Amino acid sequence: MSRNKSILIVDDSDDIHGLLGSILEKEGFESIHHARSGEEAISLLGINDSGNRYLDVDIILMDIVMPGIDGIETLRAIKARDRFRDVPVVMVTKLAEVEYLKKAFDAGALDYIVKPANEVEFVTRVRAFLRLKAEMDLRRAREAELLETTMKLRKANATLERLSYIDGLTGVGNRRYFDELYLKEWKRARREKSPVALLLLDIDFFKAYNDFYGHQAGDACLGRIAQAVAGSLKRPVDFVARYGGEEFAVVLPHTGMDGAMTVAGSIARAVHDLGINHGASMVGDRVTVSIGVAALVPERDDDPDALLHAVDAALYRAKEEGRDRIVAVDI
Ligand code: GH3
Ligand code: MG
Ligand code: MG
Repeated sequence: MSRNKSILIVDDSDDIHGLLGSILEKEGFESIHHARSGEEAISLLGINDSGNRYLDVDIILMDIVMPGIDGIETLRAIKARDRFRDVPVVMVTKLAEVEYLKKAFDAGALDYIVKPANEVEFVTRVRAFLRLKAEMDLRRAREAELLETTMKLRKANATLERLSYIDGLTGVGNRRYFDELYLKEWKRARREKSPVALLLLDIDFFKAYNDFYGHQAGDACLGRIAQAVAGSLKRPVDFVARYGGEEFAVVLPHTGMDGAMTVAGSIARAVHDLGINHGASMVGDRVTVSIGVAALVPERDDDPDALLHAVDAALYRAKEEGRDRIVAVDI
């Protein structure tokens, strides 16, 4: 680890530079930088430069008493820069200067070494500080990596959500799913000259349900109804999607009116069998649905919206005629 570690010695004494420098060289450190004053250290580190050219150091050994800017001022200037936040600065001090140490610690010094240094102790401690610095670097790198991963994940989730075909509340297909699959099935029916049926289902007095039991209960009710509808569909090509707030659309490929009425009946029964209490309904004591049904074999000039409009009209009539019922319309 010694070879590529970069050490900066800041001291006004040539003797100290010579002594510490030779000890460190003997230990195999190859990148040792020397500054004879606080000013020189600041300039070497590029503290006041706006550019990115600066000395990259792993540890700074700093004298305290120096002519000009002293060690503590220099330390403050260094620690004011973000990029030196994790660089250990160790004060190298004479015993007599111990009174300065409090100031040095306040300014961000990590520790101090008394000079003239005991060689073994000096080297051991420099190595310990360098290990600490390496661990901090590693931790920072991991933090940065984690942050990047988190950001990526967040972006991916947002994309997924946008591209999702599932309605989050009920677990059945969402409106986008319906729009895409309905058109696909409609075109297939036209190509194959086979019937396609569409059901539109709307919960009766659902606003009153929300008002009576609360919105959360309303959400739970929506989920149960969606699952009851899904459970009533027997063929793999049949599908249900949440069409709007409390409306669900069911597409039944290769199905004419008779089959569609059978499925509508099963759905109404399944919802009825859920037995969800509805204390504010005008048509009974449990949650009911109204269902509009339409089916056709699409002709070349037909518009996919025509079937939608027909089924919408059927649902409207089911509501008009008293709710809790199935109404079919011919087109
Ligand atoms: P109708 O029998 O005529 O269908 O009466 P309604 O009250 O069911 O119809 P209306 O369209 O007036 O109200 C629909 C209600 O559905 C209003 C709205 O609060 C509720 N709703 C729509 N989406 C959600 C939802 O995601 N969660 C809950 N809890 N309620 C919803
Ligand atoms: Mg509605
Ligand atoms: Mg309703």
